[in-house]
Amino acid sequence: MHVACVLLLSGCGRSEPGDAPSAARPGTLHAPSAVTASASVTAAPPPAATTTAAPTSFAEPTPRTLAALDAALFLDAPAGSADRLRTCAAEANPGHCLLGLRFTRDPAARAIAEDMLDRFDSPAGVERDHIMDGGYRGMIHILPRTPEGTNRTHLAWVRQTLDVFATFFRDLRAAAGRAGPFPRYRTSHIDFRFMESENRTTPSADALDWRIGYNVKGSLLKSQDAVTETLFHEIFHLNDQAHDDYSVKKLTDVFEQVRRKCGARTACLAPYAPGDTMVRGGTYYAFQPGNDVREYAAELAVRYFREQSAMLAKKALAKPAFKCGPQENAMAFRLFVDEFFDGVDRTPACP
Ligand SMILES: [Zn+2]
Repeated sequence: MHVACVLLLSGCGRSEPGDAPSAARPGTLHAPSAVTASASVTAAPPPAATTTAAPTSFAEPTPRTLAALDAALFLDAPAGSADRLRTCAAEANPGHCLLGLRFTRDPAARAIAEDMLDRFDSPAGVERDHIMDGGYRGMIHILPRTPEGTNRTHLAWVRQTLDVFATFFRDLRAAAGRAGPFPRYRTSHIDFRFMESENRTTPSADALDWRIGYNVKGSLLKSQDAVTETLFHEIFHLNDQAHDDYSVKKLTDVFEQVRRKCGARTACLAPYAPGDTMVRGGTYYAFQPGNDVREYAAELAVRYFREQSAMLAKKALAKPAFKCGPQENAMAFRLFVDEFFDGVDRTPACP
């Protein structure tokens, strides 16, 4: 039997095989952070906090300040902020200067982090040292880990993933006769927070407010392909959130329809599950009790990535297109693809 992976929720984390189902993700999320980013940074102070929700910008978010970049990189050491800003503000490339203070032991890792910042405006920072409430898993001690030295591989996987996504979306748009990125989908301008969970390998990752927590000991993060799929899942959550929790608003009906029909019976759910991932001792991850429609949508996103990637590579689909399954699938797929990807779908019409 296929080894079960478990993607569990802790603010939407994915976690390791063997975990029991988690408690449901809180239904209410924070509004997308007002702080967004671009590759250029300035030494100006950050804008005053505001309670007015700005329209979410996707392709070209507001440039981040040097102070905001510092905050993204040094969650573990806020006290030195003024010194770092003084040191770096006068440098020709203040952002690279801050990365030099972050990556002190590994020039090769620093070079990857510079590239991620320059090309994707995605700082490779660290998570703060804190105790995470892991729900049924109990309290989890999260420790900051700079992805250098033995952890550099993870940084390289993340950078490669951002490259893959940029190419994927550009090629997909081009194949549909359009230019540029999808106007309402973002795979750059994302803050990465590298960390490690003490004495465990969960959660592998979590996503909220254009930030992704990345566990260098995460059980799912063992290869380039696994990291790419995990990050597609997580980055979808970020976009879903920025689309005002679209999955909750528009996919709940079809999701609940399937649940009413099948409950947690795996055989019944099989044709409806976007992915193969199973919760050990449970059922398909998308329909595991305790997970909500957001996980179904994120699994659908990974299925979309797989199917469209195959089409772009002129390969046959590993299995029939999701949309060609039961009518609930077709309905969910249409809503999903119209909302996030301008209706672009390169898979052939269903027989
Ligand atoms: Zn998820």
